[in-house]
Amino acid sequence: MSTPVFSIVAPAYNESSSLPAFYDRVSAVMDQLGEAWELVLINDGSRDSTLAVMQQLKAVDQRIAIVNLSRNFGKEIATTAGLDHARGAAVILIDADLQDPPEVIPELVAAWRRGYDTVYAQRRQRQGETWLKRATAAAFYRVLQRATSVAVPADTGDFRLMSRRVVDALLELREHHRFMKGLYAWVGFPSCAVLYDRHPRYAGSSAFNYWKLWNFALEGITSFTTAPLRFATYLGLAVGFGAAVFLAQLLVRTVLFGNPVPGYPSLMAVVLFLGSAQLITLGSIGEYLGRVFNEVKRRPLYFVERYVPSSADVPEFTLEHNLHTPPLHAPPLHTPDRAPVFVDQAAETTTVGAPGGG
Ligand code: UDP
Ligand code: MG
Repeated sequence: MSTPVFSIVAPAYNESSSLPAFYDRVSAVMDQLGEAWELVLINDGSRDSTLAVMQQLKAVDQRIAIVNLSRNFGKEIATTAGLDHARGAAVILIDADLQDPPEVIPELVAAWRRGYDTVYAQRRQRQGETWLKRATAAAFYRVLQRATSVAVPADTGDFRLMSRRVVDALLELREHHRFMKGLYAWVGFPSCAVLYDRHPRYAGSSAFNYWKLWNFALEGITSFTTAPLRFATYLGLAVGFGAAVFLAQLLVRTVLFGNPVPGYPSLMAVVLFLGSAQLITLGSIGEYLGRVFNEVKRRPLYFVERYVPSSADVPEFTLEHNLHTPPLHAPPLHTPDRAPVFVDQAAETTTVGAPGGG
């Protein structure tokens, strides 16, 4: 079994309407590069016919590998599952919703050939995003940059090319709280940026809302720095100092002028202030404790329901694992001029016409 030069890894959650167009564009671009490649599609527990569409594409082009996760694990873990199953000398991560234009891949490859281990695609502008999302993203990168020691480049997503040694390094990090942008930066190796324009989604809707983005930001900060814990300590010290000054002043005033007021407001102020400081401190300790809790369980990151590698020896693998094949519910692919597919039911093998040669 020959290993491909390039592995394109694309996680997909409810992307049945984007996938055929995604495959068309990726294969058109990759075929121009003139090297062996595979497309590793990860079905992250989609609730639509994404898996069936993947299987249809696989029937047409054996260079597709399918990793079907046992449920939805989220994009970060789905990406990791894809990296685990990618065999290429260089791995290209790309979203399946066509927001990352596959036409940028040759530029990433060119930079890789010049010797860079990581070539990340950096957004020139954020099209189709509200100003609020742009502003919060900018603020997040600024905070991250200040609070942590790893340099996470701004306006970059997962769209990137990584050499085999970077992928292998990345895969050694099996932590559950996977803030991928931080992990990419943490492993290091020579890297450079390629500028591109991010497109609006081809179909469907983003799985990310503001609450998810907020959690994502929290993940990013707490996975890479313990600064909030230290901040809690400083806050506690500052509040303590303020309280000492306040009480000293109160004492002096009581000694000199007696106690004309019952003291209810000052009491309340102190109680509330200290209460809030304690809650903040406890909260940030809880954040880290929760992470320790999740990591010490040492659970596997994900489970694969079915893996179909990108080669011809598919039936053997499937039978060996005694997995059933669900019926295909997917609508026909949108391109009628696809290569013909001949399915030999008896042998359970799929013969494929030359890809793109239909
Ligand atoms: N995705 C995934 N699992 C999820 C959510 C998203 O694999 O739980 C995939 C999704 O199919 C897409 C990519 O991750 O290919 C980016 O997701 P999305 O477009 O929702 O995020 P955004 O582009 O808004 O950051
Ligand atoms: Mg998207």
